[in-house]
Amino acid sequence: YKNFFKGLAKYPTARKKGRDDRFGLSNDQFAIKAKSIRIPNLGWVRMKEPLRFDGKIMSATISKRGGKWFVSVAVEIDDTIKKVVRTGKIVGIDLGITDLLVLSDGTKIKAPKPLKTNLKRLRQLNKVLSRKKKDSKNREKAKTKLSRLHYKIRCIRQDSLHKITSDLVKAFDVMAIEDLNVKGMVKNRRLSRAISDLGFFEFKRQLIYKANEQGKTVKSVGRFYPSSKTCSNCNHILGKDELTLKMRDWICPSCQTKHDRDLNASINILNNAT
Ligand SMILES: [Zn+2]
Repeated sequence: YKNFFKGLAKYPTARKKGRDDRFGLSNDQFAIKAKSIRIPNLGWVRMKEPLRFDGKIMSATISKRGGKWFVSVAVEIDDTIKKVVRTGKIVGIDLGITDLLVLSDGTKIKAPKPLKTNLKRLRQLNKVLSRKKKDSKNREKAKTKLSRLHYKIRCIRQDSLHKITSDLVKAFDVMAIEDLNVKGMVKNRRLSRAISDLGFFEFKRQLIYKANEQGKTVKSVGRFYPSSKTCSNCNHILGKDELTLKMRDWICPSCQTKHDRDLNASINILNNAT
């Protein structure tokens, strides 16, 4: 409703069977023994792996993703304070469009773009689905195929983001990022697919929670700070139309330094984050 009243989403509809299937269980409604879980009305169901945490079981959520059933169990555990491994290194991170990340030390980290590579197949499956008769078995099958692909795309994205954020938190003590206005950027349709494909928002979320776990720091620069347009050498700021999205390199008219767009931005982010 919140998004609906803001004009960002359609009028909300009730969840129905077959779409976004999930239900919650409180801890008196289920039991877990080794690799099995007892679910009301179903009995003991095998799980792929045993519960990995010891502690008080609080609740469980059972959900269907990509035609498969998952259970997520909330367990209350003691605060485990991990040994903080300091590296003494700080870094500025620019979330670019061509490369996922450009670090102020010059490293470029490419991320897979699962949506882009699977877009053709996605469109194909959508078309197949739309041609199936409503409430038919074949429609059900087509739906499962489509949701499997969505699930696969999500898995690829999550996996690469987790690897990247874990590596960053391990390698650096302080990480500076831009406080991106993702919502505003996603409104630009040409950019929107690339941006949501890279999962900037999810990147930031993971980076912050992992940094907190490891006793590391994430700093940010305000979203209005012109990190791309400012010369990291002499602080000259380019005019409004002097740097287009297409320009990957530029030469500072004031000090003649040649800049890689994203690297320059990441250095600025590092120097200006608070
Ligand atoms: Zn300059």
